[in-house]
Amino acid sequence: KLSKRLETVAKYIPKNAKFADIGSDHAYLPCYMVKRNNVRFVIAGEVVDGPYQSAVKQVKQEGLSSNISVRKGNGLEVIEPNEVDCVTIAGMGGTLIATILENGKNKLKDSVQRLILQPNVSASSIREWLLKNDWILIDEEILEEDGKIYEVLVAEKGDSRPLYELNKEKALLFGPFLMKEKNAAFVKKWTHEKKNWQRILTNLKSAPESEENTQKSKELERKIKLVDEVITNED
Ligand code: SAM
Repeated sequence: KLSKRLETVAKYIPKNAKFADIGSDHAYLPCYMVKRNNVRFVIAGEVVDGPYQSAVKQVKQEGLSSNISVRKGNGLEVIEPNEVDCVTIAGMGGTLIATILENGKNKLKDSVQRLILQPNVSASSIREWLLKNDWILIDEEILEEDGKIYEVLVAEKGDSRPLYELNKEKALLFGPFLMKEKNAAFVKKWTHEKKNWQRILTNLKSAPESEENTQKSKELERKIKLVDEVITNED
């Protein structure tokens, strides 16, 4: 059985897709998709040898080697031009996901129509990358599993600017869809972040005064204010 987190990623993979799962580890997502007869072909990419071997073993054990190609390599370099129409990257920090996308930009130019990205932290780095590189966010989810909160971002080619017109800073940080929906996981995540920031702020204020500390405090106060606005705003 797949985790709720990966189920959520799976939900957005189009039927009959050919997709690449980058940082696949045990290749659980590719195996699950092929077993459900939902996809035609999957590349499971891994850069680290241990997880790469786990993926090879899992795919062999399940007898799925004709549908899943396990490849060792960094990020999108395991994809040949026009090989896939969808890319999933799950279970890493948002900054790393954005770096993988940036370094593999040329692989996204042609056949890739959809990106499904699941950052554990720093989803805003991904939103910024998508905005800059003409990928439009078409949906977002936030969910809680085993006490952890995860975000899933779905993007297709297009101009994201309209999504950020009202308040770019807020929408990049919280997610244009998520801040509208404001579900329980969302409120929990940002209440928790706010508490963290408040703790750091208290420490900064009791530390010796410096230009740097004042700057940091201002920044934190600003972010705390944004959380208050988004969470308490009733519309
Ligand atoms: N995607 C799976 C999931 O969501 O359950 C596995 C997540 S695991 C925590 C992250 C995996 O990404 C690790 O196995 C790591 O080796 C791999 N990884 C990290 N950077 C990578 C890169 N640049 N290219 C390919 N794989 C990478």
